[in-house]
Amino acid sequence: MASVQAILNGDVGPNGSTEAARVAEFGVKALAVLRKHISVDVHTHGGPQGIYSPAAPNGTLAAGMRAGSLAAVCLSEIPDEPLLGRNAAGVTGITRSPKPGELYRHHLERLAWVDEMVTHHGLQRALTAADLASAHAAGQPSLVGGVEGLDFMEGKLERLEEAHQRGIRSAQLVHYTPNDIGDFQMGVVTHEGLTELGVEVIRECHRLGMIIDVAHATEQTAKAAARVSTKPLLLSHTALAGSRAMASTRLVARCVSADHARAIAETGGAVGIWAIFPDLEKYVEGLKEMADIIGVDHVCVGTDQQVAPGALQDYAQWVNLIAAMLRGGFTPEEAGKIAGGNYMRIFRAAMG
Ligand SMILES: [Zn+2]
Repeated sequence: MASVQAILNGDVGPNGSTEAARVAEFGVKALAVLRKHISVDVHTHGGPQGIYSPAAPNGTLAAGMRAGSLAAVCLSEIPDEPLLGRNAAGVTGITRSPKPGELYRHHLERLAWVDEMVTHHGLQRALTAADLASAHAAGQPSLVGGVEGLDFMEGKLERLEEAHQRGIRSAQLVHYTPNDIGDFQMGVVTHEGLTELGVEVIRECHRLGMIIDVAHATEQTAKAAARVSTKPLLLSHTALAGSRAMASTRLVARCVSADHARAIAETGGAVGIWAIFPDLEKYVEGLKEMADIIGVDHVCVGTDQQVAPGALQDYAQWVNLIAAMLRGGFTPEEAGKIAGGNYMRIFRAAMG
């Protein structure tokens, strides 16, 4: 499909064709949605040159966001990234145990990477809902600091406050490294849910003003977090188990059951659908599959960019995603909620 921008510029022919007019019509509506609503990719690593690439920060991410009218990204660093690899079946996991202090050091290094991105490469840091709103109003791309797995804590609760001071506003409890917080989906169940420390972590996140993200947590752990949390939970990147729209994925064990998703929605929270779909149309079907289960107020977009293959590897496509939502039958109001409104509700509640 031609980009909305190209068609609006008249770069795509044939001029006046029904197809061009149709794409342009939805493109105009999509841009109106993005002007009205703060849109957020609730879980990303920022593309091929993003936060887990060896590349130094650069302007590609902000430029893509501007091109696609995406207001904000929750840019997640991955403390256990140095340990990750694939087994013979292509399944992601850790290849060794961390050395003491190793993941904490990696976390600090990635925080410095984000600082550099904010200082020199066109992304404004959003620490509050007001920051997100003013950046959106100014057409200035912004980022929310995220951390994928609290493995940098090494059991030390005070490191959460330090992360908060460095700009982290979204804390995913577990990833691929066994920790003393809770069980994760592709690991061995050792805690039967959330630990005592896990409960303390949730309370500390509430106190500091951080979103709790239960992506990667087992259903048992996520449900335990839902019971303990007094704020809406985020489950930032997944898809409905048994999704018909999603191509087969090596990450099938990372999908969630209807019940698992309902537990998140019942906290007032939202489930982010990753972009591991063959194209934008299928991705919109994936959003609908989840909305049919938990309602349109509880679904958001967490692309997990850069995890290939995915339907949204380039943020210039963001406006096309919104257009695809509208073509697929979502109203502009619903598209606005999915594209960012639902996340903003969680963000405000977490900070309040
Ligand atoms: Zn992940």
